[in-house]
This record gives sequence, C-alpha cells and structure tokens, in this order.
Amino acid sequence: QAKGRGRNRYEMFTGDMDDLVKQRRLIERELREALEAGTQLSLVYQPLFAADSNTVLGAEALVRWDHPVHGRLPPEVSISVAEERALIEPLGEWVLREACEFAVRCNVPWVAVNVSPVQFRNERLAERVAEILKETRLPPERLQIEITESVLLDHSGTTKASLKALRDMGISIALDDFGTGYSSMSYLRTYAVDKLKIDRSFISQLGISPDCDAIVRAIVALARALKLQITAEGVETTAQRDHLTAIGCHELQGYLLSKPVSEVEFSRVLTGSAERFEERAG
Ligand code: C2E
Ligand code: MG
Ligand code: MG
Ligand code: MG
Repeated sequence: QAKGRGRNRYEMFTGDMDDLVKQRRLIERELREALEAGTQLSLVYQPLFAADSNTVLGAEALVRWDHPVHGRLPPEVSISVAEERALIEPLGEWVLREACEFAVRCNVPWVAVNVSPVQFRNERLAERVAEILKETRLPPERLQIEITESVLLDHSGTTKASLKALRDMGISIALDDFGTGYSSMSYLRTYAVDKLKIDRSFISQLGISPDCDAIVRAIVALARALKLQITAEGVETTAQRDHLTAIGCHELQGYLLSKPVSEVEFSRVLTGSAERFEERAG
C-alpha cells in the first residue's frame, strides 16, 4: 500500500530536465533537514536465512524515507540525491550507527550495511567505521559491508586501502548485485571479499531461462571454489529456494522468506528462528 503510493509519487520526478533539477534541489534540501531533525528517516531489516536449516543468520539494513508530502520514498531517491549532493557521508554514517545499535540491541548475529562507492572515495571511511563500532560497542566481526562491483572499478589507491583496512579490522565484505556490473574475475583476486550476493535478476529467471540456470550454477561453483560465502537475493518462490539449496547456495534472502521488516518484527522472526533451531537440536 505505502509502497504503491510511493511509486506513484515517484513518477512526479520524471518531468523535463529543468523541473528535474529543481525537484532534486528541493529534495536535497528536504533530505538535509530530515537528517538534521533525525525524523522521517528509518531503517528496515531483511533477514538472511541459512539455505539448509531455515535459521536466521543475519540482517541487511535498508534505508527508508517517509517524506511528509510524497510518502515513503525508495532508497534510490534518497541515496542518489545524497550521493550527488555530498549528503552521503552524513546519511551513510547515520545508517551505519543505527544498524550497529540495532544489532547490539536485538542480539543479531551480524548486520549488513550497504556502503556507496562515493563513501569509498573518502580516505577516512575505515577510521569512521571503526569509531562507530567503538561507540556502539558492536564487535567488527558482526558487521558486514555490502559494496557493488562499481566500487572495485575505482582504481585509486583509496578504495583498495579502505577495503583492506576494513577487512583487517575483522569486518566482512560482501559483493552485492553480483553479476550485473563489470564483474571481472581479476577483481576477485585483487580484492579480498568474503561473500558474493547473486543479483535478483538472475534468481527471478531460474527455471525459466536455461542460460540463467547455467550462470547461477557457475557463480555458486566459483564462490565455493574460492571459499567465499554465497547468497541469493530476491528469492520469491519455493522452486527457486529448492533449486538454490540443491546447487549449494549457502544463504537465501527474499520475499518468500521475509520482506524487509521493522526492528520489532525482526526480533520476532529471530526468536522464532532460534526456537525452531532448539526444537531440532533437542
Ligand atoms: P540491495 O542492497 O541489492 O538490496 C536489496 C533490495 O531488494 C531491497 O530493495 C529489498 O527490499 C529488495 N528485495 C529483497 N528481496 C526481494 C524479493 O524477493 N523481491 C523483490 N522484488 N525485491 C526484493 P530496497 O530496500 O528498495 O533497496 C534498493 C537498493 O537501495 C539496495 O539494493 C541498495 O543498493 C540501496 N540501499 C538501500 N539502503 C541503502 C543504504 O542505507 N545505503 C546505501 N548506500 N544504499 C542503500
Ligand atoms: Mg545490499
Ligand atoms: Mg543486493
Ligand atoms: Mg540487487
């Protein structure tokens, strides 16, 4: 319901260029105000499940912006405006702090946070992350940072140094939307990452497109051979789940298992998962 409303409003943003620039300027000002006020912005959390036991392994934090006029705006709007307008630093830090506090409060094994390529251009990124971990008392092993392949395209030493510093701290790195960017096998050698997340566009075609079946199977085999964790995002059907489990995918994320939910709902999912786990063990 709210999402449908958001989408209709979103169409407003497709006017002519002049309007678009004006609209983005307005949105920028409103986002700045929302950040300062600390209202309107919130995080939702989508659980990631073990493919073989259906237990909750961790959570991915996703930002939401409840705009007083336009309703709930998708992250594409807030993130892209923030990236353009130098607001990604404060927004990114807000998301990180919120997500770390959530993981501590709810005793979540780990939380994954999306970090924009723009944030990686700041050479102080790793330092800031370390400060936030210290302030929130979240052990680095319980933070995962999700990057897209475009981060790895930046050949400046800054990105490489940041990634190394983050990993040296004990933070794990996941390569998000894997297979959609300029994936190059050499990146997997140059940059140490811990996890590949197969993009939803491949998962949705499983069992429909033989090419997609082959690609997904190959990505899973590649990840396993490199001793990387492998996650499928956008799992929506039981057929997809069964297929992914059968070919050795470790982790599943998608509407079939759970949509992104509020902190309160997440805690419930987590408790339910632990009880199921105990029942099996006992
Ligand atoms: P992502 O990191 O690939 O996150 C997964 C997106 O897929 C989320 O959309 C999630 O709601 C959606 N999704 C999960 N399961 C399913 C499914 O089964 N079916 C379908 N159709 N969709 C599913 P969302 O929350 O709209 O986020 C979109 C993108 O915005 C994210 O993609 C991420 O790239 C970016 N984003 C979200 N929050 C943040 C943030 O705090 N910082 C940054 N830098 N980017 C963010
Ligand atoms: Mg992500
Ligand atoms: Mg993703
Ligand atoms: Mg994706």
